[in-house]
Amino acid sequence: MEIIRSKYAGACYGVNRALSILDNAIEGSRVVCGAEVDSVAGAGSIAGADSVAGVGSIAGADSVAGVGNVAEAGSDSVGDVGIGSDMVGSCEIYTLGPLIHNPQVTRELRSRGVKEADSINDINSGIMVIRSHGVALEVIEQAERKGLIVMDATCPHVTKAQVAARQLKEQGYLVLIVGELGHPEVEGIRAYAGNQAIVAQEPRDLPEAFESDNIGIVVQTTQTESSLELIVRELVGRGFEPVVRDTICFATKQRQEAAIELAGNVDAMVVVGGRNSGNTTRLAQLCTKVCRNTHHIESAEELDPAWFVGVGVVGITAGASTPENQIIAVEKTLENLL
Ligand code: SF4
Repeated sequence: MEIIRSKYAGACYGVNRALSILDNAIEGSRVVCGAEVDSVAGAGSIAGADSVAGVGSIAGADSVAGVGNVAEAGSDSVGDVGIGSDMVGSCEIYTLGPLIHNPQVTRELRSRGVKEADSINDINSGIMVIRSHGVALEVIEQAERKGLIVMDATCPHVTKAQVAARQLKEQGYLVLIVGELGHPEVEGIRAYAGNQAIVAQEPRDLPEAFESDNIGIVVQTTQTESSLELIVRELVGRGFEPVVRDTICFATKQRQEAAIELAGNVDAMVVVGGRNSGNTTRLAQLCTKVCRNTHHIESAEELDPAWFVGVGVVGITAGASTPENQIIAVEKTLENLL
């Protein structure tokens, strides 16, 4: 049996960046809270800082000390930031919801002391890491009022969708978000899109009537192009001329296109990633359309030899929140099935 990994599979830029920022938060927690100088070594956001050597902002910080070198704002790598070892203190680290939609990763983070809070109301002190899905601006403002140290791991592509939603609203459009109702990223974008904003993932989710003829569309970063096209076609069919800001992120497009191509050329397809990961689930759905023998698994232990009886070539892809080690474990297990 031949095993082929999809060209683009596994953790994307935004997820790797969020994990690096959280690593820095864990490292930085030893030197931040309780110290005379509010400092955070790391990238991400340090809101309200008078001086920042890095990306973003630290809530309430007067200065950023002990930071090695984060000269490259927006750098892919934020994991090599130096921290002043002479600084002492500790504080708790929270994420609002799981950092990424991958159960194994969130389990590991919990074992390293990272806590998940359902709401900012559940956090009274310490470091709050904003995950790649982003949050409403009000949440960051509330965190700053509470004196929390905010490390912002919002993916820049999500920020782009938030900005597009805000701009459309300011230009007088009724904002329609093509996405999954209730998904944290969508709820974050909705906070920028105005009270009237509508969320729809497929045409049947659209309301019968709209409060405005001027509809502006933004898209959840991990949606498929076909979801967007179906919604636009439906609106055009109803006589609207929507303005479209296609905010589907490049990483998502790459993963979907490469996975579809591979799935069309293999006998079986394995999609690795959290079942609670929307982008992984969509990858599995897309692959199933071209390869009926597609299986969505979270870990190598779930592989069933029966799926590969008579299979000559198996393809592997993985969602944007699936770390490399989980993909390698699946590849190794598959090799042992040979
Ligand atoms: S899938 Fe795209 S938008 Fe989402 S975290 Fe990854 S790079 Fe960012």
